[in-house]
Amino acid sequence: MSTKSQRPEKGQLWIACPRCRQRTLYWDNPLRPFCSDRCKLVDLGNWADGKYAIPVKPVSEGDLQAAGSAGEPDATDSSDENI
Ligand SMILES: [Zn+2]
Repeated sequence: MSTKSQRPEKGQLWIACPRCRQRTLYWDNPLRPFCSDRCKLVDLGNWADGKYAIPVKPVSEGDLQAAGSAGEPDATDSSDENI
């Protein structure tokens, strides 16, 4: 009866390639987290094509002031009455 275990050696870490889900070693893998040069290039190509859009919310000066002075009343809205 064999008691061979499939456990990886100590220090080994297997990850799934983000492109093809193939198992690949994390350590000693210059292409990580990808399994191959091909997968890496495909993924980089997607970024270049804008398929992965990172939502960026522009921060205005008003947002910064609101965050810095929480609780203070905003008096700029009533400035029209002075005109
Ligand atoms: Zn892959």
